[in-house]
Amino acid sequence: MSSRPEMATPSLDRPRRAVIVRGHEEPLGAMPFHADGPLRRWRMAGGDAQAALPVFVALHEFASVEAGRRTYCEPHVHDFDEINVLYTSSSLQVDLRLGDELVTVDAPATIYIPAGLPHSANVRSGEGVLVAVLLSGEYRASAP
Ligand SMILES: [Zn+2]
Repeated sequence: MSSRPEMATPSLDRPRRAVIVRGHEEPLGAMPFHADGPLRRWRMAGGDAQAALPVFVALHEFASVEAGRRTYCEPHVHDFDEINVLYTSSSLQVDLRLGDELVTVDAPATIYIPAGLPHSANVRSGEGVLVAVLLSGEYRASAP
């Protein structure tokens, strides 16, 4: 009997195999602290028992949004870190609340939001995408 090298214990948190999850469109208003906004939302990964991953990924697609202040995303907090990636091939502005700070961010940009920091993100104008990567396999949020 040949001996095999010791394998690390497979972790449910970190798959040791490649995983492909197909995205599907779903309404933003179905998520806590969110209402439907001027966007299409795609759940790209997460909350799927068939492909348990340590991340939850959602993509917000904006098309020619007229300038304005919006509140479809209410301030909320997570018990895990979140990363937002803003990308555009033309122009995209997103109003962010990060703690007590209100900032307008021009794409392309990446925003790191540590666990426990109250935050919200609402498109101001333009077109492009916001990719939200939550470092948790499930979406959980609470009021600040
Ligand atoms: Zn969030």
